[in-house]
Amino acid sequence: MNEKGCIFLEKGIDFELDKVCDCCISHNDGRGMPVLLENYNGEPIDWENIFNIKAQRISAQKEKTIYDCENCYRLTNYQFTGVRKISDFHFSHCRLCNVKCIYCSDIQGGGPINYDVYPVISDLIEKGYYQAGGEATLQGGEPTLMKNFDALVDLLTKNGTNIRVHTNALKYSETVENALKKNMGLVVTSLDCGCSSTFFKIKQVDAFDIVCSNIGKYVSASSKNVIVKYILIPGYNDNIKEIDLFFKLINNLGVKNTALDIDVVYARKYNNKDVSPHIFLLVDYFNLKASKLNIDVQIYSFLLYVLRNRTIKKSNLIYFKFLYNIYLNKQKDKSKNLEYFR
Ligand code: SF4
Ligand code: SF4
Repeated sequence: MNEKGCIFLEKGIDFELDKVCDCCISHNDGRGMPVLLENYNGEPIDWENIFNIKAQRISAQKEKTIYDCENCYRLTNYQFTGVRKISDFHFSHCRLCNVKCIYCSDIQGGGPINYDVYPVISDLIEKGYYQAGGEATLQGGEPTLMKNFDALVDLLTKNGTNIRVHTNALKYSETVENALKKNMGLVVTSLDCGCSSTFFKIKQVDAFDIVCSNIGKYVSASSKNVIVKYILIPGYNDNIKEIDLFFKLINNLGVKNTALDIDVVYARKYNNKDVSPHIFLLVDYFNLKASKLNIDVQIYSFLLYVLRNRTIKKSNLIYFKFLYNIYLNKQKDKSKNLEYFR
């Protein structure tokens, strides 16, 4: 008897660009995202069919961990309840976006990119297959551009589901603001910089002031439920000056939570381990700045992986800004991006 399981196998649903899965978690060389429906484009769903697929999968899982879930970090000791209801949602089907982050791999051209999932979720609720108390993650693309985004958020929160919105904060949503005020929402946004010129280089749109103002409005609704991310992108924002500007800005906006990550393409170039030592120094510097301002830092997955895998010895150099500057000045070729300093 296998005791391992996961809530998504039993009560989860994930809407992708062209399919429906149990979860949106992709891991370990292509495993993950067990498929429920192929070639999907927003059609009505036969819920009994979905729960029959889930039941078969759960019974296989009880014997031995199924292929898609092997070594998934979400697998825990989980007691399957036998309930045929959905409580946890991922909405990843909208691939439209109004900015062009240089590190983005999400946006795709052609094909169905934004079907309407609102009638499907209404139907789930009306037919009694919905369970309150779970979480819905709205991501993309840019989820505020999803068809019926506000109506969907309203429907979910009114029926007792908390929402987590991964947004670039360019388009403001009062429905999300209301969810924050009711303590039923979390906003995660990646700013990655502290000034308009770096913003433009990274996001490739001239919208720094609007985005900052919108972050400020979300923070006013609930400072504890807004996370502002900084993705380290070598050659763009991997320097102390930008980190200083970032903290000055978010402190003025009243932000209490940040998250730090690294550009996945860069991390993979070094097999997710011995990236340039100055990245490790900047991570320490980021943590130091945050602790001085009483701002919380979460380390997100790609950077966590790099930090866990590193073989380079930890350094305290970053705690002395002038020593860090000496470190940079010692590098031979000043014209090269820091990523080449190894
Ligand atoms: S164990 Fe991982 S891959 Fe399997 S359903 Fe849960 S989150 Fe998805
Ligand atoms: S906001 Fe998200 S979806 Fe849009 S370009 Fe940036 S990373 Fe891609």
